[in-house]
Amino acid sequence: MPKFQMVLGTGNVKKKAELQRLLAPYSEIQLTSLGDYPEALEVEETGTTFSENAELKATVQASHLNRWVLAEDSGISVDALGGAPGVYSARFSGEQANDKSNNELLLEKLTGVPRAKRTAFYTCHMALSDPQGNIHIRCEDQCHGRILPEGRGTGGFGYDPLFELPEYHATFGELGSAVKSVLSHRARANRKFVPLLLALIQSLKTQ
Ligand code: IMP
Repeated sequence: MPKFQMVLGTGNVKKKAELQRLLAPYSEIQLTSLGDYPEALEVEETGTTFSENAELKATVQASHLNRWVLAEDSGISVDALGGAPGVYSARFSGEQANDKSNNELLLEKLTGVPRAKRTAFYTCHMALSDPQGNIHIRCEDQCHGRILPEGRGTGGFGYDPLFELPEYHATFGELGSAVKSVLSHRARANRKFVPLLLALIQSLKTQ
């Protein structure tokens, strides 16, 4: 039986690795990534919501490559900052931003904010487009936690060393990939995504 071929539409190496791990158990899916397509586009994230950006990345890349593309947009929203950086998480500290400069800016902005008011949540929005640019699946989920006053642990990426899961008294930086692949926003969104994808694959077979 031919497998369902799907391109992971992200250029972020760490994100790609997490998605590959989450989707690995499903033998009916054959995953490729943008690195397999030299002609892949760099899609500009011009949306103002996670869903807009995810759908944009999925539909533009899918019609360009003429393939099914799964895109995701994610970020962290900090309550004391009115939800910032949100969709601007990757570019929080400017165009040349990296994880270190973003984390430093976040800590600076939260200087003096007490522990109880340092609540934050990650969001992951996943969108699957067919090769013609039509979205078939969209799903989203969150992971709630708190921003520590200093980083702990070296696992994960982005804001993970600062993001504490209150129930675990540990950051994603400390918890490691096995735990993150169960608790994270990406893992939670993926648990919604997979049953919808398997149903879609089934319906495509009977067409
Ligand atoms: P995107 O490529 O526009 O979706 O940007 C995602 C950005 O959000 C990343 O560059 C990180 O700064 C942040 N982010 C998203 N997911 C995670 C995560 O799982 N851990 C840490 N940071 C994340």
